[in-house]
Amino acid sequence: MSKKELLLGNFAVARGAYEAGATVATAYPGTPSTEITEYIAQYDKINSEWSTNEKVALEVAIGASIAGSRSIVSMKHVGLNVAADPFMTVTYTGVNSGLVIAVADDPSMHSSQNEQDTRYFGMAGKCPVLEPSNSQECKDYTKMAFEISEKFDTPVILRLTTRISHSQSIVSLEDRITDEEIISRPYDKNPDKYISAPANARKRRVIIEERLGKLQEFTNNPENNLINVEYNDKAIGIITSGASYQYAKEVCPNASFFKLGMVYPLPKEAITEFVNNCDKVYVIEELEPIFEKEIKSWGLYVIGKEIFPTIGELSPEIIRTCLKEAGELESKSLVTYEVQEDLPVRPPVLCPGCHHRGPFYILKKLKLNVSGDIGCYTLGGVPPLSAIDTTICMGASIGMAHGFEMAKGKEFAKKSVAVIGDSTFWHSGVTGLIDIVYNKGNSTVIVLDNSITAMTGHQENPSTGKTLKGDMAPQIDFVALGKAIGIKRVVEVDAYDLEKLEEVIKTEVNAEEPSLIITKRPCILIKGVKFEYKDLQVNSEKCNGCKLCLRIGCPAISFNNETKKAEINKSLCVGCGLCVDVCKRSAIELKEKKD
Ligand code: SF4
Ligand code: SF4
Repeated sequence: MSKKELLLGNFAVARGAYEAGATVATAYPGTPSTEITEYIAQYDKINSEWSTNEKVALEVAIGASIAGSRSIVSMKHVGLNVAADPFMTVTYTGVNSGLVIAVADDPSMHSSQNEQDTRYFGMAGKCPVLEPSNSQECKDYTKMAFEISEKFDTPVILRLTTRISHSQSIVSLEDRITDEEIISRPYDKNPDKYISAPANARKRRVIIEERLGKLQEFTNNPENNLINVEYNDKAIGIITSGASYQYAKEVCPNASFFKLGMVYPLPKEAITEFVNNCDKVYVIEELEPIFEKEIKSWGLYVIGKEIFPTIGELSPEIIRTCLKEAGELESKSLVTYEVQEDLPVRPPVLCPGCHHRGPFYILKKLKLNVSGDIGCYTLGGVPPLSAIDTTICMGASIGMAHGFEMAKGKEFAKKSVAVIGDSTFWHSGVTGLIDIVYNKGNSTVIVLDNSITAMTGHQENPSTGKTLKGDMAPQIDFVALGKAIGIKRVVEVDAYDLEKLEEVIKTEVNAEEPSLIITKRPCILIKGVKFEYKDLQVNSEKCNGCKLCLRIGCPAISFNNETKKAEINKSLCVGCGLCVDVCKRSAIELKEKKD
């Protein structure tokens, strides 16, 4: 087959896994990595699933590898923190069939709580890291990663970044290796290798160091296609990788380039030769100065973070400005141009009709201390709702609420709640809840159950009743689970019933034992979700301009400064009726019921 397609980087990774003969794929959704597994799910020959979290996803993939299937696990950078425990040991045990760990970093934190550089994980685990710079390489490197994994008996990290995951470029498609060629190995029953007890682990530790040396030899060899050296104007040499290569190439098309495909371990001999062949060498890498520090440790002179930023994404404009400030403006390697970046700012906001809005409105009204979590509902911290006080990481809200109580006592617990979404609860909230019960805590936990993993684009999870492939699945029941772990006070409440919601929250925070409140309503963007009313409007005779309805932060409601009355944008309003409940003057009128 010789077909070309315009593919998103993430789709190209999925295609690479398919062509390489992978038969198992796992993931927990997380922007910017989510589409890898969504796309893989379209291939019938790959047994794929959403796991409850990244640790489980990696453990499933490790099991599949040892059992003899090429396996790929995908996650965002913070997901690797969750999966760090099995990761740091599977690098010791090694693999049977190839194991690829696709990790997407998010420089500039477009949709993340922090900025991490996954190359550090590669170094910490002594695990090879490949980094593609376009969609074609996303596919090719995924295939190579399986081969390297098997050749060197190691998992391989495929490091992506937001721009590479979410950019499109042309990819040549090839056939999947045939079923006969697929490296389906027998189950590897090898306890000395796979039981990482001290006696075995000490032996494997030596093997890891030997493996690193062999990987370095491998990447040094240009025939293995993991380094790309282009000599042009030798006045400026640039060592780079990934998206930074594309930016640097745009700014300095005439410079000499050393592009790295394997970003850990580094090809020392080849880099040394390049540095010695150029008059001056810049290291251009996004986030941490990892290449730069290592190259300098070899006694070579290169320029890196002295002029380029450590924080955030790079761009052609940033690179051009930094080189200009370093005095390279006159260099023939550099092209100059101006880019206008005056796009309007569009701050994130909960959707009109979102069911999280009501609970946050009540929590703010009751002036409770709220530990929040990761999901759409993190937007409950944004004005005018401003209802949550903390967000640290997936599942942290519940343990933190217990921490509030440990620090300040039971009375403080009665003024505090934890708020978490359904998918995040299954990911890593449930263990915090068990901790509260076991340690006789008093906290109130609110699960905002919108029956989907909404923030990453509507993936299935244990409360949706469906699998990644769309098959029916057991629906794990919050009420049954809460009771099973010993919580006596478990209450379900309609998220749009503000009166009831307020009453329930007031009662439960004052209870002398832990409570679990589940606010139930599907995400309004789920197909088929409809509201009862339409054609809402503000009766200008009743409206006194108090602005109470603006406190719920619905994008469909605005205030007309000339008439001094609230207004509803009919093209945005979905008719949830929340503002009707909030307005004390009954000024928001439901004109008619939907059929
Ligand atoms: S809450 Fe009611 S009275 Fe107050 S501004 Fe809104 S519509 Fe008008
Ligand atoms: S009914 Fe009110 S709160 Fe609901 S979407 Fe419309 S304007 Fe927003």
